Amino acid sequence: MGITQAEKGRFQKKVASYVWKLRSEMWLNRWTIDVLVTEYPGEDSDARAAITPVNGRYKAELEVATYAAEAGGEDLRHVIVHELLHLWHRDSSDVLRLALPKELSQSAYTLLWEAYRQSLELMVDDMSYAWAEKLPLPEWGNES
Ligand SMILES: [Zn+2]
Repeated sequence: MGITQAEKGRFQKKVASYVWKLRSEMWLNRWTIDVLVTEYPGEDSDARAAITPVNGRYKAELEVATYAAEAGGEDLRHVIVHELLHLWHRDSSDVLRLALPKELSQSAYTLLWEAYRQSLELMVDDMSYAWAEKLPLPEWGNES
C-alpha cells in the first residue's frame, strides 16, 4: 500500500496542478494553495485530506493522504472539491472561531463550535457532491 518517495513527488505535482485548475473553476483565484502529500492529513488517521487556511491571508495548505494516489478519479475529485469548498466559509467561520472564545465559557464555546463544525461539514460535503459533477476529473486516474 505504501508508495515510494519518487511516486509521492509525482503525485504531489499532479495534485498541485489539478488544484490549480479547480481553484479557478471554483472562483478561488485569490487563494494561494500549497499541496502536501502526507500519511495523516490534519494529523487524523482517517482523513483523506485536510485544508488549513493561514489566519488573515488568502493562503492555505492542502494535505492529501498518500493512499489517495491509488484512488479513482471521481473519488479524488470529490475529496479535493470538498477541501477547496472549505475555503469559501473561512471568513464566516472566523467570526465564531475568533470572537466567541472571548465571550463564552470554555464548555459553552466547545459545545457551540462542535455543533457548528459538524453541520458545516455536512453542508460542505453535500455541496461538494453537487459541485464536483460539474468540474473536470483529474486527467490521471480516471476510472473509465
Ligand atoms: Zn470537510
